[in-house]
Amino acid sequence: MRIRKAARVILIGAPGVGKGTQSERLLGRFPQLAHLSSGDLLRHNVKTRTPLGIKVESTIKNGGLVPDDLILRLIRNELSTRGWLTHNGRPPIMTLASAGLSSGADAESAADSDAGVAAFLSQQSTPSPTDSTSASSSATGLSSDPSASFLLDGFPRTAGQAAQLDAIVPINLVVSLKTPFSVILARIGGRWVHEPSGRVYNETFNAPKVPGRDDVTGEPLVRRADDSEAVYRARFEKFEETSAPLLDHYARQGVLWEVEGMSSDEITPKLMAEFERRFCTGAEKEDC
Ligand code: AMP
Repeated sequence: MRIRKAARVILIGAPGVGKGTQSERLLGRFPQLAHLSSGDLLRHNVKTRTPLGIKVESTIKNGGLVPDDLILRLIRNELSTRGWLTHNGRPPIMTLASAGLSSGADAESAADSDAGVAAFLSQQSTPSPTDSTSASSSATGLSSDPSASFLLDGFPRTAGQAAQLDAIVPINLVVSLKTPFSVILARIGGRWVHEPSGRVYNETFNAPKVPGRDDVTGEPLVRRADDSEAVYRARFEKFEETSAPLLDHYARQGVLWEVEGMSSDEITPKLMAEFERRFCTGAEKEDC
């Protein structure tokens, strides 16, 4: 189905609520929608040994949060790279200068200083609306082309990040996925993951075609170490605590939409219908 109006979407939900499942289904149904995951972008930087990757490696390993300014620049770079952010009405001019920093000793030494990491990031990005040296934020534009549609995953995680994101990317739909705690807890026990891709299965409602094997690669599935009740309870409480201000932030902007269901299959049709209604897909909705 075709999107007719740029969709800039975030899914928020407790661990285990099925964000991954709903994302996959949305991406499958709307091919123009891109998936932007802050965790994936960070892991890519770690893997390719960029100054940013070297700097944040231990934070990610320890499960801490990467500082807001770095993560924000990373997202802005990605949007610029894709040609979705314009500066002074033009797409950003990309240079390959960062390549010289992206490996070896240069990257190691750049990672040692905040200035080095910032220099690495700014080589690829449009100026930050908050940079004192940049033009005003009005000069940084956002493409409204339907092809500049994306689903943000893992970002923003806090109300502070959301407020900073507002300055560069006004999100136009925030979906809050809701399933009762007891229901999620019961099904956590049946969860299996394919680690390399992140694909998630469940014995009861999303079973792999061959038990214990990934549908796409045939590789073995594993249990996540944190899929125990005690660990889940702690993660759920943490989520409730951090997501409340984030949800409030978007509720005040009028872009929050809540959907409830006992399973992913119950939620999906409601989500698809809402998505279509808002982003005007289908030839029959020409007037949207
Ligand atoms: P994820 O794949 O979303 O679980 O992210 C993996 C790790 O990357 C997290 O544990 C954090 O260390 C870091 N990370 C990802 N997104 C963010 C974010 N929005 N803010 C801060 N750190 C993040």
